[in-house]
Amino acid sequence: MTALMQMTGLDVSLPAGGLVGSLLPSLGSRIDILQDVTLSIGAGETLGLVGESGSGKTTLAKALLGLQPISGGSLVFDGAPLGSAQSFARLRRATAMMFQDPVASLSPRMRIASLLTEPLIIHGERVENPTRRAGEMLESVGLPAAMASRYPHELSGGQARRVCVARALALNPSLVVADEPTAGLDVSVQGEILNLMADLKTRLGLSFLVISHNLSVIRHVTDRIAILYLGRLIEVGPTRAVFARPLHPYTQNLIASEPQPDPRKRRADLAIKGEIPSVLRRPQGCEFHTRCPFAQDRCRKERPGLEEIETNRLVRCHFAGPDGPKKKPSKED
Ligand code: SF4
Repeated sequence: MTALMQMTGLDVSLPAGGLVGSLLPSLGSRIDILQDVTLSIGAGETLGLVGESGSGKTTLAKALLGLQPISGGSLVFDGAPLGSAQSFARLRRATAMMFQDPVASLSPRMRIASLLTEPLIIHGERVENPTRRAGEMLESVGLPAAMASRYPHELSGGQARRVCVARALALNPSLVVADEPTAGLDVSVQGEILNLMADLKTRLGLSFLVISHNLSVIRHVTDRIAILYLGRLIEVGPTRAVFARPLHPYTQNLIASEPQPDPRKRRADLAIKGEIPSVLRRPQGCEFHTRCPFAQDRCRKERPGLEEIETNRLVRCHFAGPDGPKKKPSKED
């Protein structure tokens, strides 16, 4: 599959500054948020990005939308390196964001017609008949054209989410970043939004980056999945294969923790402990060792690389193999 967006060795760091910098001088002048992220999003592909709060998901999304400066590595979009002001202007036109809280992202004082045509006007397009144009955009996401005259507070959660999708598509983007696309919606409406995304992908050939805590959303809508932990990728692979046989202990835990109709099917042996550590105090060696049920001495000293364990399956774990570290590795390991 041709890569629409290629991230190679991406680093993002922020100034330590102020109180943090003076209390923790060992950090140096910057805090690493993303480290050495190499990942692609194919043309027409839906990539899922998963990780706890603080894992760097939002920073990664902002970096690839050109909203977060990178401190190392490179970004190539549609075959052209990103770096110059012109290349980022082109990127902003070709990418769009579906926000997590759709009503909050829509100005309450503007009618839907104005909200939908605003991105076109900002990008210098003349809109002769905003109501008609907005009506066409609404119909493309399964809403009646007459809704163009309404205000955001007159919409249901599902309708507001569809309006956000229509607004995101205003400039005919090739890549859409969807941040928790179904958060706060009833289960039946969640299904409608996911089906709409799948339909748009097929109909318009769109690529999506879907960020979600909800693994059933990721499982339902994505082709590949990338898992971030403390700003590093720890597992990447085709969604079906990762859900069928997760190879990293963290991924195993995430999938084992999914709500099960039968609670006896939950895997207590894969339970991870505690909170994700702060990026201010990254553990030595494998950064997951403080929570990993399989951690060994080697894990505390030596940082694993992201290795291709099988075709298209990348895992960052000393003991990852075809079956993953399901049993505690022996001392000799
Ligand atoms: Fe766990 Fe060690 Fe693998 Fe890290 S390297 S995930 S601590 S078994």
